[in-house]
Amino acid sequence: MASPRLDLMQVLLARENGFCFGVKKAVELTEAAAETGKRVHNLGQVVHNPTISRRLAERGVQVIKDVAQAEEGVVVIRAHGVPPAVRKEIEDRGLECIDATCSLVLRAQRFTKQLADEGYTVLILGTPDHPEVVGLKGYAGGTFHVVETKEEWGRLPKMKKAGVVSQSTQPPWAFTALVAHVATIAQEMKVFNTVCPVTVKRQHAASELAGQVRTIIVVGGRNSANTRELVNLAKMQGRSAYHIESADEVRSEWLAGEEAVGLIGGCSTPMDTLLEVKQRVEALGDLTTTAA
Ligand code: SF4
Repeated sequence: MASPRLDLMQVLLARENGFCFGVKKAVELTEAAAETGKRVHNLGQVVHNPTISRRLAERGVQVIKDVAQAEEGVVVIRAHGVPPAVRKEIEDRGLECIDATCSLVLRAQRFTKQLADEGYTVLILGTPDHPEVVGLKGYAGGTFHVVETKEEWGRLPKMKKAGVVSQSTQPPWAFTALVAHVATIAQEMKVFNTVCPVTVKRQHAASELAGQVRTIIVVGGRNSANTRELVNLAKMQGRSAYHIESADEVRSEWLAGEEAVGLIGGCSTPMDTLLEVKQRVEALGDLTTTAA
């Protein structure tokens, strides 16, 4: 009997993978709406993942950028949420609205409104044009600032009352650093930590992986904020990190000389996409090992 090969490259899957509960709910609600036979529209990609978008398109779900593009049927609000004016527009046009905003994003929207109602200048840690931040801005009243980098919050003016919230996928260390800075420029400060604990767990899993391997492959939509954060984190720990959306993007040269590589997906990356990547890495790793 042939003895098992011990020289194959190992693929280490991160401890946390697959959809987060917010993405899972948004996809399930969209699929359930498609089953009804009505015309179903996603206001923006339901999740930042090309495989899921393709699957939903096959079921007749149409992605629209603007509510005005839906003439009839159902509009699904994705996990990122929308500003109140958009929600109202859906209702005013007589369209059926399915709200798949993640419960954690709804919580952040509530806190943002509360801060604005209480007269705080709202400071949002996030990417200005990210859909979740666009939604939060709609609750932030007339005076707010969106900041993402140390340089940006370093330019904030002094203020009497500052209220701080965060886009869910921002790294916790950035939130802590922003809060520490605001304490030096505001007379009064109120803070709601709206960083998503699911993404924090995923970031911990990425760090753990970075402790075990030199190369990490991160799978997820290129426009997915939480996926990009995993790539940044691996790079900050001195690892080679490659961001891909699907298995066919894996390159054998990334694997050359490696005994093991790490694999992790963003919160909107389905497990089957991740497993396809795993298979491809294993196949290429085998070739690389054999060639060496
Ligand atoms: S990443 Fe967090 S906030 Fe965003 S959809 Fe998932 S659970 Fe909700």
